[in-house]
Amino acid sequence: MEVRTIGVVGAGQMGNGIAQVAAAAGYNVIMNDIKDEFVRRGLSTIETSLGRLVKKEKLSQAQASEILARIKPSVSLDDMAAADFVVEAATENVALKLDIFRKLDAICRPGVVLSSNTSSISITKIAGATSRPELIIGMHFMNPVPLMQLVEVIRGLATSDACFDLTVDLSRKMGKTPVPANDYPGFIANRVLLPMINEAIYCVMEGVGLPADVDQVMKLGMNHPMGPLALADLIGLDTCLAILNVLHDGLGDSKYRPCPLLKKYVDQGWLGRKTGRGFYQY
Ligand code: NAD
Repeated sequence: MEVRTIGVVGAGQMGNGIAQVAAAAGYNVIMNDIKDEFVRRGLSTIETSLGRLVKKEKLSQAQASEILARIKPSVSLDDMAAADFVVEAATENVALKLDIFRKLDAICRPGVVLSSNTSSISITKIAGATSRPELIIGMHFMNPVPLMQLVEVIRGLATSDACFDLTVDLSRKMGKTPVPANDYPGFIANRVLLPMINEAIYCVMEGVGLPADVDQVMKLGMNHPMGPLALADLIGLDTCLAILNVLHDGLGDSKYRPCPLLKKYVDQGWLGRKTGRGFYQY
């Protein structure tokens, strides 16, 4: 099936970024969320992001307007009936995602691929909630989507080769570099990243180093552009804890146990940038 229209479910930080890169690649986009104000907020974020590209002379004003005009706002999942390919980027919650995929399976035409941007939920589990497991796949973009090159393409147990090839092709057409991964907890990106972040938090808890010193070691010593604690604050400490719990539960190895200091910060509501305080103050 030729993909002309991409449906994006969820217009939050990831969803609006995905909608932007899809529209910039020439696709018609249907951007859906549960409330009109959330869709509007997503559109306004895209407008600001495109405005920045115009200022840097990477886009003309006319091109920016054309990209924005290709994104159709939606507050009804039924609108996904017009999509040739769907990327789900709603809140990271298993029950919610299973419900969305059950509904998408009923709404979307047969043959349409339903992908998920989930950071940690099993693609195979999502596929099990639908009657088209061969067309369910993970399409894991990185944050911020317009700037980050990588898309992890995650095959569930029943994902077909045709579905995988189409998703890889679409990722490239959206200007990204796809990397294949199989469906195990955390896939590749978070399986490797989160234990490093967790260990950095243990270093702080045990007094091995202050947050700024831990980050400085990783920046200067390992050439990381950003230290692990600053990155944890950017991702959100609640999200970091949720992913570590998925790794710990799913793999059953104590090396993934979340650091008690991370749990304490989350209990206190110090979630990082989004609440103004995490390992740093914002
Ligand atoms: P977010 O909270 O910014 O956005 C989620 C959006 O989904 C919200 O606008 C919410 O209203 C909407 N939503 C909730 N229920 C919905 C429904 N039934 N139908 C349509 N929309 C619904 O979250 P986010 O950071 O954009 O994360 C979205 C997904 O992307 C998650 O699965 C997350 O794990 C994944 N992800 C996040 C990051 C990151 O760094 N934040 C990176 C990669 C992947």
